[in-house]
This record gives sequence, structure tokens and C-alpha cells, in this order.
Amino acid sequence: MHSGSSSFRRRSLQDLNCLTSGEMSDEWVEQKVAYLLNNSGQYHPPVELTPALLKLCRVIQVNYIRGLPEVGRLQIRKSGFVVDITPTSAKEIGWDRVVLAHEVAHSLLYDVSSWPPKSLVSYRAGHWELEAICSYFARCLLVPKVWLIGALRDISREAATMNRLKSLDLLAKRFNVPWRLLAKRLVEDLECLDCVILKFSCSALRNSGGSGEPKPDWRLTWCAVPPYLRESVYIPFGRKVHGKRKCPRVKGRISRVIGECTTRSLFNEFFTLEVGAEELVSSTTGGLGKFISTELGLKRVELHCRSGIRSHTSLFSEPPGFSGGEIVLSILLPNQQVSRTAMDSP
Ligand SMILES: [Zn+2]
Repeated sequence: MHSGSSSFRRRSLQDLNCLTSGEMSDEWVEQKVAYLLNNSGQYHPPVELTPALLKLCRVIQVNYIRGLPEVGRLQIRKSGFVVDITPTSAKEIGWDRVVLAHEVAHSLLYDVSSWPPKSLVSYRAGHWELEAICSYFARCLLVPKVWLIGALRDISREAATMNRLKSLDLLAKRFNVPWRLLAKRLVEDLECLDCVILKFSCSALRNSGGSGEPKPDWRLTWCAVPPYLRESVYIPFGRKVHGKRKCPRVKGRISRVIGECTTRSLFNEFFTLEVGAEELVSSTTGGLGKFISTELGLKRVELHCRSGIRSHTSLFSEPPGFSGGEIVLSILLPNQQVSRTAMDSP
């Protein structure tokens, strides 16, 4: 299991085209998804990974085993594929389904006409590009393009009055997937949600230097960025240190994102930021909020302040005794269409 960016995803699919005789492309993915859904009798969200659907992929058994070294794995048997999954204890719904859909993708990348089945791709097992392709397939299967467009149309009137993170939340429930998967689908795969979504997490305090009180150590732990912005606002997800992922500090990263957006004239004089999905009493003092508002340095900042999607976290001033939490921020990209056209012209 590995999630890759969609720019890599595109390239990977092109590589697949060269590497195999089959028709492997975005189109191949769409067709495969349509085949699986139609032949397992599914016409509405959420997609269910039923025995009928799994059988179409020659997956004969799914085991949930605690303590596996990986979140999911595929075993090749003469009678078909066996998927082992580490059940997630995550609070967010749907991750087990994502892992299963990802493993299903692996199963489709084998030619099973002979024994042992031959891989259709030349990547070695575990290669990150292969993993990115399978994660992309999982998103396409769990959130089929046509269904998503239909669902967007359904909620559009309602969504006009709510923030985008809230509509993301609604859609994620409808498709029974984690909201982050849906965000990747909308923002990166299909480019139909014009915003940059950032997730910050704080799980520890850090010394602020001198004799000052320890401060919350906010880190940028996840983001969804439209492909046309990705190269310039690329945000590293940190590196592994002693087996643990170290994510970048908030400072510097968000200013780079924002700086890049302003340089590209995506914003003129103001921003719209959305924070989380629920209403929150706002004040612009302290904490991450203060940092963000100072960093913006623009004439007008429009803040739609809401609490975190998962757990309540005060963005603007951490309460006394605060030791950790999570916050999701969406930076809306107004006039994106216009700007993109401008960027595309020589
Ligand atoms: Zn994998």
C-alpha cells in the first residue's frame, strides 16, 4: 500500500502502455471498473466489494489478520488469489475497503492464463509506481467517475451553501470511503474541486526555546493538490527517521503553498480558507491561525472557520493543556479556470 501523486500516476499508466501489449491507460481503468460493477450488479454508491465482484478478479478469499507486516498483501494460489488484510483500528471509516480494492488491483495485473500467473507489468513487486497505480485503481473502483459526477450534481444545490470540506464529508459517507480518498479523487484525479486541501496534525509539544512554555508541534501530514499546481507547490511528506515518518513543520510549507498560488495570480487580493467541516467560534489570535494570517500578508483574508473533521481542534488558539489534534484546511482556488488558461498559453 503506497499512495502516489497523480502526476506520477499518469506517467505510470503511460509506462504501462509501453510495457505491455494490453491497453493499459486511464481508459483501461475506467473500462475495468465498469466491467466489475456491471457484472456484479452494482449501479449506485457505495460500491460493495462483494464475493461476486471479487470472483471477477479471481479473488477467492479475504482474511483479516492482525499483526501482518503490511496493511494488505496478495497471495497467489492455483485456485485464485487470497488477500490478507490488517484490520484498521482507525477512527475513519472505509480504510479496510481501500486496502482490499488496492489488492484487487494487484490481482488484475496478472495474466492468469498460465501457471504461475505472469505479471503484466515490469515493475518489481512493491515498486512505488506499481503501488501508485493500484492505489489509483482503488480510488476509481470505490468512487467511480460517473457515479461521483452524479452525486456531485445531487448535492450541488445544497453544497453551494456549505463549505467544500463539508460536502466532501457528505460525499465520503455516500461512497463509504475515507474523506481523504474522496478528496484525492476530486482534487487530483478528476480536477473537479478547485482547492488545495491540507491536513495538519499535532501529536506532541515542542520546546519553543528559552524558558518559554512548550508549544504544539504542528506538522503537515497530508495534502491534496490539483495536478496543475503540484509541481510548484509540491509538499514533501517527510522522511523516515528510525522507522517513523517525520513530517514537515507547518512553518515554511504553508507559506510556500500560498506564495506559489499568489505568484501564479490564482488569487488576487484575498483568500478563502475553510477549516474543517463544522462551525467553530473564530478568533484570529494564537496558534496555527495566527501563523496563517500573518503568513498571508494580503489585504483581505476571508476565513471560514470550522472545527476539524475528525476531532475538535481549535485552530486559532489551542486551549490550555492542549497536547494534540488535527486540523483540515482547504484553500479555495477562485477563477481557477481563467488562471489555468492563462498558464497554459505560452
Ligand atoms: Zn500494493
